[in-house]
Amino acid sequence: REVASTVQAVLNVIETTVDLHVDELGRLDSIAGDGDHGIGMQRGSRAAKAAGTAAFAAGAGAETVLAQAADAWSDRAGGTSGALWGLILGQVALRLEDTGRPAPEAVALGVAAAAKSVMSYGKAELGDKTMVDVLVPFSEALARSIDGEETLADAWSAAATVATTAAAATADLMPRMGRARAHGKNSVGTPDPGAYSLALIVNAISTVLS
Ligand code: ADP
Ligand code: MG
Ligand code: MG
Repeated sequence: REVASTVQAVLNVIETTVDLHVDELGRLDSIAGDGDHGIGMQRGSRAAKAAGTAAFAAGAGAETVLAQAADAWSDRAGGTSGALWGLILGQVALRLEDTGRPAPEAVALGVAAAAKSVMSYGKAELGDKTMVDVLVPFSEALARSIDGEETLADAWSAAATVATTAAAATADLMPRMGRARAHGKNSVGTPDPGAYSLALIVNAISTVLS
């Protein structure tokens, strides 16, 4: 069950990364939001890891492991980002197959579907200063790199670099969605918390794909 093991390693590294940055994410969210982004991401990623581990131990394949993790994340995290992270993982799960190693095309299609779902559920567009401002360029970069016939690990890490730049660029934007909208001006000069955590996570995932 190579793909299911990779999914488990990914869930693990997401949890560890969020733990390392929990205070920083809370501080970012307290500038224009309600300060709970670190805590929410921590609850979600812990629940996802636990649910994924239980499904894996019960013999489930990659799709089920990740789908259970996705449901646990949105159930337990609370907040807007929790629902959106549940959607992201759930969309990637739908495209995973258990044979061999994770197929680069399938992962890229899953990430593209995740970007579409997040935009249709949350109604944010590019430039609204949300995680969409990282998810869309990351997804596009991943699709492009995979077309260049790179391995998943190479394509993912090239796209992760794009995500880092995109997250930093959200600092210049005024929030137009979510809680941060009310105190928008305060956040100019600081990246969007959800965009920033997404970039941290995709970069951390690079380390388990290579
Ligand atoms: P909440 O805003 O409910 O307290 P979090 O603090 O965990 O939830 O997450 C805030 C992040 O969620 C924002 O920084 C932004 O990236 C993301 N977000 C909020 N609303 C939307 C939306 N409508 N579409 C996409 N992302 C959003
Ligand atoms: Mg918040
Ligand atoms: Mg909140």
